Amino acid sequence: MANFLIDSEDKRTYDAIVIGSGASGGWAAKELCEKGLKTLVLERGRDVKHIKDYPTAGKAPWQFEHRGTVTIDQRKDYQFARFMREETMHWAIKDDEQPFVEEKPFRWVRGYHVGGKSLLWARQTQRWSDFDYEGPSRDGFAVDWPIRYRDIEKWYAHVESFAGIAGNRDGLPELPDSECMPPFEMSCIETYFRDSLRQNFNDRRLIHGRCAHLSDPREIHQQQGRHKCQNQTMCNRGCQFGGYFSSNSSTLPWALKTGNLTVRPHAVVHSVIYDDAKQRAIGVRVIDGTTKDTIDFYAKIVFVNASALNTNAILLNSKSDRFPNGLGNDSGLLGRFIAWHNYRGRGSASYEGFQDKMTDGRNPSHSYIPRFRNVKKQEMDFLRGYAIGIGGGRGRGSDTSMIGDQLRENLLHPKLGNWHISSWMMGESVPMEKNHVRLHPDLKDKYGIPQLVISCEWSDNDDKMVEDYLQQQREMFEKAGFKDVQVNDSKSPPGSDIHEMGGVRMGRDPKTSLLNSWNQLHHCKNVFVTDGACMTSTGTQNPTLTYMALTARAANYAVEEMKRKSL
Ligand SMILES: Cc1cc2nc3c(=O)[nH]c(=O)nc-3n(C[C@H](O)[C@H](O)[C@H](O)COP(=O)(O)OP(=O)(O)OC[C@H]3O[C@@H](n4cnc5c(N)ncnc54)[C@H](O)[C@@H]3O)c2cc1C
Repeated sequence: MANFLIDSEDKRTYDAIVIGSGASGGWAAKELCEKGLKTLVLERGRDVKHIKDYPTAGKAPWQFEHRGTVTIDQRKDYQFARFMREETMHWAIKDDEQPFVEEKPFRWVRGYHVGGKSLLWARQTQRWSDFDYEGPSRDGFAVDWPIRYRDIEKWYAHVESFAGIAGNRDGLPELPDSECMPPFEMSCIETYFRDSLRQNFNDRRLIHGRCAHLSDPREIHQQQGRHKCQNQTMCNRGCQFGGYFSSNSSTLPWALKTGNLTVRPHAVVHSVIYDDAKQRAIGVRVIDGTTKDTIDFYAKIVFVNASALNTNAILLNSKSDRFPNGLGNDSGLLGRFIAWHNYRGRGSASYEGFQDKMTDGRNPSHSYIPRFRNVKKQEMDFLRGYAIGIGGGRGRGSDTSMIGDQLRENLLHPKLGNWHISSWMMGESVPMEKNHVRLHPDLKDKYGIPQLVISCEWSDNDDKMVEDYLQQQREMFEKAGFKDVQVNDSKSPPGSDIHEMGGVRMGRDPKTSLLNSWNQLHHCKNVFVTDGACMTSTGTQNPTLTYMALTARAANYAVEEMKRKSL
């Protein structure tokens, strides 16, 4: 039964609707509410209140019934879920919540609760440069981005100042500086490797990864009720201190304070409602997650921030006489050119030096080597390149193969091993039309919404890039005098590396793209898409900072357009 469930249509009408309360949706809510728009955030998952709903935050290992392990019985409904530890089980998604069809192997990591994956992320926040925004047109592998770095620069700064970013100003043209507070300390093995790189490779730098943690909170963070990061490195349980940025600790409570925000959890968005007569979107159709009733909500503008693949699914399911193949899909490209990141390559090594250094500290971030392949010109036999994440520490181990006093003694006095270092590639995958998502014609989920078919695979370009990383990482470690150097290709399926993007890409030409330079659907201007779905190409940088900056930019544009009565 539709629409008779909560009050009148009037009470279901807002100025703006935001679909999804994660990293990008939180920003849409904050900006729109601050500018005075009555905003409804629709979120499919349960509510998560900052602090109150982090049940395992700060707990010691012995406070968990199974010391972190999830029992076979507890796992039975979660065969495909991530976050299967006692500490993080509260974020795991049951298999029946949203089945999907893997036409080719794909890992789809999701966070279905208020805050979305902003509660689960590793908080790395590197800016893009024009080497990224100009990449598709320079190298001819995708349509031209309709924006350049200068268009988004001030929005990066806007987001960074509010979220709080720890890092250095490194002065690298390929990785523009962020608005930063001091970085977290590197371990001695990382600083040693940094110096070795500088001596041996003039195209590579090891820097502090910029991360959304408060190392030196400013007034604006105190106003959010957030505090300095305590380096507990238990971030993915939820942080009581608000030490890292999440929608729950930052943008959503800020928006709530304006009095303009309504958040509706358990609201599974079915589609955006398009009115053929008015030639605009008029609202959003929701299936109530608890009662399974259909409810329509209305607004002047809609921001779709359900995370890349879900945003594709929602738009594909938004069918009308005008748009029989999905909202705004005149080009037939909705759902196509899905791309992601390539973290397949891994490396590790050990070092026999620094035996006098006993501790490695606790760093909620890690070190980072910005992309050095094909940056200024095409020079390899593959397109684009990869950045590298680096972490290091001192190994310690205890023989626990006994019981009694000796076991106690071994646990109390673990033996220190050598220093070790680990590396992971962060490669750019090139968008291809054949990599796509579409709706299954028959299969539906428990809400009656068509299941998503995901059809994505690695390309020859990805394989060559992994090969180059493996060779280069080996060489970098060997030049540093490290021992036990190991590199390998995990051959993990696409999606394992979490940063899926595209399907609703930005561009200049409505024939080859879905969104314009302000993230509006070319053919339905009051619908904005500002999550990963909008990405024309993927860069190597962790992408969320760019989604958040694009969101803040588009939201402010939308407000201005509404004032001008152009929307
Ligand atoms: C372990 C891990 C580590 C990561 N590390 C990093 C990192 O270091 N740096 C980085 O940049 N990125 C990182 N990411 C990725 C980052 O979390 C995402 O890019 C980011 O959260 C995407 O923001 P979003 O708003 O698009 O989606 P999300 O944050 O996922 O939010 C989407 C929201 O929409 C809701 N939703 C979905 N479908 C519907 C529907 N039909 N109806 C209503 N609501 C819906 C979801 O429940 C969710 O709350 C990491 C992710 C994970 C899981």
